Amino acid sequence: MRRLRNVKIVATLGPASSSYEVIRALFEAGADVFRLNMSHGSHDDIRARHEIIRRIESDTGRPIGILADLQGPKLRVGVFANDSEELAEGAPFRLDLSDAPGDATRVNLPHPEIFAALEPGASLLVNDGKIRLRVHECGTDFANCVVEVGGTISNRKGVNVPDVVLPLAALSAKDRKDLEFICDLGCDWLALSFVQRPEDVTEARDLAKGRAAILSKIEKPAAVKAYDAILEASDGIMVARGDLGVELPVQAVPPIQKRLVRLARAAAKPVIVATQMLESMIDSPVPTRAEVSDVATAIYEGADAVMLSAESAAGHYPVEAVTTMNNVAISVESDSTYREVIEASRSAKRASVADAIVAAAREIAESTPIKAICCFSQTGTTVSLVARERPRVPIMALTPLMETARRMTLTWGTHCAITESQHRFKGAVLAAAKAARQYGFATEDEQIVVTAGVPFNRAGTTNILRVAPCDERRIVSAEFE
Ligand code: PGA
Ligand code: MN
Repeated sequence: MRRLRNVKIVATLGPASSSYEVIRALFEAGADVFRLNMSHGSHDDIRARHEIIRRIESDTGRPIGILADLQGPKLRVGVFANDSEELAEGAPFRLDLSDAPGDATRVNLPHPEIFAALEPGASLLVNDGKIRLRVHECGTDFANCVVEVGGTISNRKGVNVPDVVLPLAALSAKDRKDLEFICDLGCDWLALSFVQRPEDVTEARDLAKGRAAILSKIEKPAAVKAYDAILEASDGIMVARGDLGVELPVQAVPPIQKRLVRLARAAAKPVIVATQMLESMIDSPVPTRAEVSDVATAIYEGADAVMLSAESAAGHYPVEAVTTMNNVAISVESDSTYREVIEASRSAKRASVADAIVAAAREIAESTPIKAICCFSQTGTTVSLVARERPRVPIMALTPLMETARRMTLTWGTHCAITESQHRFKGAVLAAAKAARQYGFATEDEQIVVTAGVPFNRAGTTNILRVAPCDERRIVSAEFE
């Protein structure tokens, strides 16, 4: 079940994708990583989906990534006596700490820290930015606003406050509980919503204690400003265009997407482009041309992964949505312009022996007919460096560690496989050749590049590169050990 593309597909699971059959169909259609959204569903639901993913992994013998997405400090209004109200442009509307049900003139906003941080002139966006309120007077427990853009407001709708760096803990009490729960269950990536500062990432990392890699969702203007430091503190990035397009004008999102993707790739950290990629496929078996173009753009930009949200979690055509992404990826990646763009955007930083070795591997792939670059890796660091080169041939990540294989499922162009722990280089070359043949990357008559670090089983030692035949007898008869 070898993928015929480099970009990875992340599929969010939800009510439309909870059974073994559907999740397995998503995996077979091309999903490499499944997102468990902690904002929706009980711990029991999450546990059931988690169990199914791990079952499919063992049934198919292929490492599958799990990305658990923590809700983060998402603000919500309280409830209304009539469940919803119409807010008219120009009307006054008050937010306060009273938990009495709301009406057309006021509603509860149960976040005292927000009132403390608000200032007259700030805007508040409700319901994915559909309603805009402007604060004209505020105190420690209220904000009197004017409705600038009206619409329907209903129970527990989300509130965005783009102009203010919120004095909120990165992780709510719910997030901490969810984090413990999901790290205990086992997840490969922990996504943090509404990251504002690098310290938010450090805080989550301290709690995760090495049980998951940390991925920062960039969806606040403050995070865009502090991106360099947040990227440095994170293991991966998500361009979370849903909330980003609410907190900033929508036309600001494409240039930000380009910058975020480019810098994450230069840092050799996986980056996901997310939200509304195939939005119309929630209700339609075919995408719009514009959506296809959007997925293609993210791939041309060199993103590691593209993501489905409601399309796979709650839509009517989850499998078709994954198939569409897979087909778009195959089409884009076979275009010669794609290779030109990807190669032109390579960054030239060479700071270590490992950097030099992976650059050499890529050059060999460009100038000779080798079939794959096989990397023995403990932590996945070398594999990430190879992936940053965006080589012309597939990358095989070979590791004895299941956690590493699962984490690398998010990385561009990487096929992950578990191998026995290696002790001698010759044994490693034999194992690489065997894996390359087994997964259909090369035949006995073809060659591969093998990189490894000797001594084995120590992180950060990559120091060997060999061009090897895939024929075992020729490896065995080679004169070196
Ligand atoms: P969400 O994050 O789906 O959890 O809101 C992604 C986004 O905002 O784009
Ligand atoms: Mn979001």
